[in-house]
Amino acid sequence: MSAKTILYVEDNEFNLKIVRQLLSRTTYRLIEAVDGEQGVATALRDIPDLILMDIQLPKLSGLDATRQLRTDPKTAHIPIVVITSFALSGDSEKAKAAGASAYLAKPYSPRELLQMIRKLVPEN
Ligand SMILES: [Mg+2]
Repeated sequence: MSAKTILYVEDNEFNLKIVRQLLSRTTYRLIEAVDGEQGVATALRDIPDLILMDIQLPKLSGLDATRQLRTDPKTAHIPIVVITSFALSGDSEKAKAAGASAYLAKPYSPRELLQMIRKLVPEN
């Protein structure tokens, strides 16, 4: 089987580095986008197996990007984990309403994130 591809849509370089490092020890293949528009375009082009979506992004928010991907038949089936900013802000409800498969509130541990990824898309 070929490696599972994960698209991480994130504008924060520090968070990108953490996830790069985390996934470098796995067989997952990581692709990246740094704003919501690029995230939607990359998802439509590459059809990843899983999408990690930051909620606060330039150009198009993570929620709007999630909605767009849910309405396109090419990407509607892809699990999307929305990374929310605050546990108590109501972002988790908004993420679910936008079509997120799951959400993870910051701050989260890399271990938690990897567990969630493996649950949604088992590593080969
Ligand atoms: Mg952000």
